[in-house]
Amino acid sequence: MAFEGLTHKLQETFKKLRGKGKLSEKDVKDAMREVKLALLEADVNYKVVKDFINVVTERAIGQEVMESLTPAQQVIKIVHEEMIKLMGSTESKINISPKPPTVIMLVGLQGAGKTTMAAKLALHLRKNNKHPLLVAADIYRPAAIKQLQILGGQIDIPVFTLGDKVNPVDIAKASLEYAKKNAKDIVIIDTAGRLHIDEELMLELEGIKKEVNPDEILLVVDAMTGQDAVNVAQSFNDKLDITGVILTKLDGDTRGGAALSVKAVTGKPIKYAGVGEKLSDLEIFYPDRMASRILG
Ligand code: GDP
Repeated sequence: MAFEGLTHKLQETFKKLRGKGKLSEKDVKDAMREVKLALLEADVNYKVVKDFINVVTERAIGQEVMESLTPAQQVIKIVHEEMIKLMGSTESKINISPKPPTVIMLVGLQGAGKTTMAAKLALHLRKNNKHPLLVAADIYRPAAIKQLQILGGQIDIPVFTLGDKVNPVDIAKASLEYAKKNAKDIVIIDTAGRLHIDEELMLELEGIKKEVNPDEILLVVDAMTGQDAVNVAQSFNDKLDITGVILTKLDGDTRGGAALSVKAVTGKPIKYAGVGEKLSDLEIFYPDRMASRILG
């Protein structure tokens, strides 16, 4: 299960704190050293951990906490609050254009779960009374178009394709025309991924962005890849100025690093989480619920 190691270590630390009654400054610092190690082992970005620990420590050795009747409880509460802040405080809704169609561009490395997420998002938005159109703009990966058509078919959502001989910028452009003519108010563009970030791919994505002026550019990253997910997020953000992140495979045994680092490193919020292979396995990302899950 996700976060298992982190949750377990934090609980051990908190148990020790609770057993102490009154806390000394040293008790707090010792506990913070353990929290720091637990976060690093969970693959949270080093600088994020350092800043987090500094803020929590400063608050926790404040007078209010040390003199309170339940100091351990107060310290745990501070960790919880700061963890929520780290992940963006509140949920980040997607930007719906006042002038339909709303254009959502999904980007990310191959295998991150982009195509699956396109269909999940379409299903989710339709439940919210929208009329999505899926757009197959990955013309390189064999069977990517077919995969999207199959997923679209499963949930009865139309898939726009011009095959794999038309360039993705033109596909994206044509899809907007199609959406307008066919009363589709959300266009979800599934773009190509590569195994690694490469210049050619970025140029193509920049080209699509320029052509369709998306309301959202959501980067799909695999939570299981930890620090790598954060590096990928940073690179895509530098090139494309993404509007948000979707973490996939949070149902797997991810150590948690990506969920806790991405917002702090890129400044961009996590908007959704993929929690399984089924098309209904999508969650809105709530920082407070995620923090509670991590703290156990
Ligand atoms: P793409 O190359 O980025 O388009 O990735 P795909 O959408 O083809 O997904 C790659 C694999 O990850 C597929 O086998 C998906 O079923 C799987 N997958 C995608 N999202 C999730 C998720 O949230 N949880 C789990 N367990 N598997 C996922």
